[in-house]
Amino acid sequence: FPDTSTELKKSATGSTFDANLIKKDFPILAERVNGKPLIWLDNAATTQKPKQVIDRISYFYEHENSNIHRAAHELAARATDAYEAARQKVQHFLNAGSINEIIFVRGATEAINLVAQSWGEQNLVAGDEIIVSNLEHHANIVPWKRLADRKGLKLRVIPVDDDGQILLDEYSKLLNPRTKLVSFTQVSNALGTITPAKQIVEMAHAAGAKALVDGAQSVSHMRVDVRDLNADFFVFSGHKVFGPTGIGVLYGKEDILNATEPWQGGGNMIQDVTFEHIKYHNAPNRFEAGTGNIADAVGLGAAIDYVTRIGMDVIGQYEHYLLEYATHLLKQVPGLRLIGTAANKARVLSFTLQGYTNDQVGQALNQEGIAVRTGHHCAQPILRRMGLETTVRPSLAFYNTCSDVDTLVSVLHRLKSGHR
Ligand code: PLP
Repeated sequence: FPDTSTELKKSATGSTFDANLIKKDFPILAERVNGKPLIWLDNAATTQKPKQVIDRISYFYEHENSNIHRAAHELAARATDAYEAARQKVQHFLNAGSINEIIFVRGATEAINLVAQSWGEQNLVAGDEIIVSNLEHHANIVPWKRLADRKGLKLRVIPVDDDGQILLDEYSKLLNPRTKLVSFTQVSNALGTITPAKQIVEMAHAAGAKALVDGAQSVSHMRVDVRDLNADFFVFSGHKVFGPTGIGVLYGKEDILNATEPWQGGGNMIQDVTFEHIKYHNAPNRFEAGTGNIADAVGLGAAIDYVTRIGMDVIGQYEHYLLEYATHLLKQVPGLRLIGTAANKARVLSFTLQGYTNDQVGQALNQEGIAVRTGHHCAQPILRRMGLETTVRPSLAFYNTCSDVDTLVSVLHRLKSGHR
């Protein structure tokens, strides 16, 4: 494997992309932790924010802050324009057919709960079946399990192979006329598996079911095209794609959204209210009751501008290159067991290290300024499928470099040679 020179990154990505330059856009990456330069390898948990996003949020509060849609004054117009411009950026980012298909929510978790508690409540009856995969984050299990318990639905699970890839043959056996929804992740947060999402959606539709794709881990790594994917619902969180926390997106096909009862009630989502009768707006307002997170929606728009300027394909290629580089080096650490070895993978390197608890590894890495997640990653079923309760999980983003990986690997080698 090549070293860290820009030239080699050039050949890997076919562009002049340089992660060392990108790093400079992220002020927090200049922090020191325990006297060492911070190496942020916890990107599956949350990503860092470029100055462009931070500045855009400050600009909003300094020049545009107002509630939206409701006033005749100048700042209301500025805030509304900025908010709706962000919605349009999300529409283009996902290649959605209409701006009305983009609903701002708090994050992927809220988006899935919204679908469960509105579309699911309205359309599913006792005996109906929901399919999820064994790879899911708890955010894509708990809302469905709760709905299933409440309504007498059956929750069925697509198994995975030992590498952590979905077994399509087993999936096809689960589909039947009672299947009403297939809800699954495009990229596993615990293992990094990239699932064959388009095929899974196609098979769901062939069985007459709707499909929800959890894009929490995919949108920062690959170009997503919801029309090509043909998903009925698609969800993601702003904070995992270099945007702010507290803002996320539910994409839904317009006809489905407009036929679905609202979730929360309040201001903004109604056309007319009397004590006898309420007439709701269509989507997106239908699902945006009350004052939302206006400034952070605008910040998410800036994050989308940022990654779009670099190019999602360039980011995906570079991260793939870095993943292969890291995988190659990690495999040479004695006693290190990589968990999740699917051929099609993104950004995540879950592992255990013989002779050490995962917490000990996490703490030793923290001593060297390296941030990784240790734990169950809110995905207990897939870790248990792999025979584990927890792992150490470094996860990559496009501002990480081969040198970051080298430092990680050298600390692990040092641990194995007995120097804690
Ligand atoms: N789905 C996946 C695959 C995730 O990785 C996460 C977060 O880690 C979520 C859903 C939930 O995202 P949030 O906590 O931002 O709502």
